[in-house]
Amino acid sequence: PVIAVTKERRAGETRVAATPETVKKLVGSGFSVTVERGAGAGASYPDDEYEAAGAALAPGAAEAIGAADILLKVRAPVDEEIAALKAGAIVVGLLNPHQEKDALKALAAKGATAFAMEFVPRITRAQVMDALSSQANLAGYRAVIEAAAAYGKALPMMMTAAGTVAPAKVFVMGAGVAGLQAIATAKRLGAVVTATDVRPAAKEQVESLGGKFVAVEDEEFRQAETAEGYAKEMSPEYQAKQAALVSDHIRKQDIVVTTALIPGRPAPRLVTAEHVASMRHGSVLVDLAVEQGGNVEGVRPGEIFQTEGGVTIVGLANLPGRVAADSSALYARNLFAFAGLFLDKEGGFAPDYEDEILKAALVTRDGAVVHPALQ
Ligand code: NAD
Repeated sequence: PVIAVTKERRAGETRVAATPETVKKLVGSGFSVTVERGAGAGASYPDDEYEAAGAALAPGAAEAIGAADILLKVRAPVDEEIAALKAGAIVVGLLNPHQEKDALKALAAKGATAFAMEFVPRITRAQVMDALSSQANLAGYRAVIEAAAAYGKALPMMMTAAGTVAPAKVFVMGAGVAGLQAIATAKRLGAVVTATDVRPAAKEQVESLGGKFVAVEDEEFRQAETAEGYAKEMSPEYQAKQAALVSDHIRKQDIVVTTALIPGRPAPRLVTAEHVASMRHGSVLVDLAVEQGGNVEGVRPGEIFQTEGGVTIVGLANLPGRVAADSSALYARNLFAFAGLFLDKEGGFAPDYEDEILKAALVTRDGAVVHPALQ
């Protein structure tokens, strides 16, 4: 089977769906791989390394895609790419299925069989394909780097002949994969870290990283985790209690990183304009949920700005794309593992649509959007 990898065409997307390392592995598994020239440039993977790894280079997207059985992408393909797909081709990517309904419709209309990496189930066998985790981990890291860069003070405590610099207080809201990495990164930089979440399981994880857990731990909190391990949308009563707790805590913080998400729903509003106004001049907020509507009131998607009260709000989108070499390397390995599901035991091209993982991730087939969560 032939795999195509093209340049990402969405604004600001620096990542790439295959690296020279995974091209070599894909070729070793029996695939032939065509890479569009320049596909890896944004992530520091030059064309000659893809060629050396066994890829054929194509001058443009249409040339790369035309003969492909499988198109590997970071983000959903654009119309030009969809138009070039051959009948029945497979497309795999972080298709953002809840939001990018038009792209899914176009893929369905073209007769493509599309898989959204977001829907890969979080079962043990699929851990190696868990792109949400591989990307969230780097996003959490980068969020703290962005915060540190925007913050006019140092994070660690420093005792110098000229006096002592106090350690920064960092508060991480949402302690999933991204939040836990944000906690670890802030700790490594010497900050005093607190964190909150609505899932009880998060408490021990926060504490094991040296963070202090701050949350409304009532009966609803004890029931807040779904069978899939995600958070439920909390009741207005809980949200009010949470807001009161946060009010008191947040005004004492130097840096706040928010990462709270609920699958398929807008991000919960955790930081109000009043909270922001209560923060000290020079403090920094980084909102990792900005692409799902934001956890912070007033966040501006894609922007860094300072409020009248001197609080810097960082609303940069696609933080994994700011660590593009590593985020691509990890994502490409997720896709390499996923592509293995298209082969039978003898290495023949025979996707098993009854496979639990393929079934869960399938979003379009035979001309229709088929995933139950998208009906
Ligand atoms: P996510 O990106 O969906 O959400 C981020 C965090 O925000 C979550 O921890 C969530 O509980 C939290 N949150 C939601 N609403 C909130 C609110 N109102 N206030 C505060 N926090 C709120 O989550 P994720 O990072 O994908 O992780 C979800 C869970 O899945 C975690 O327990 C994680 O450890 C687990 N996980 C399991 C596997 C696996 O078993 N293979 C892989 C990855 C993650």
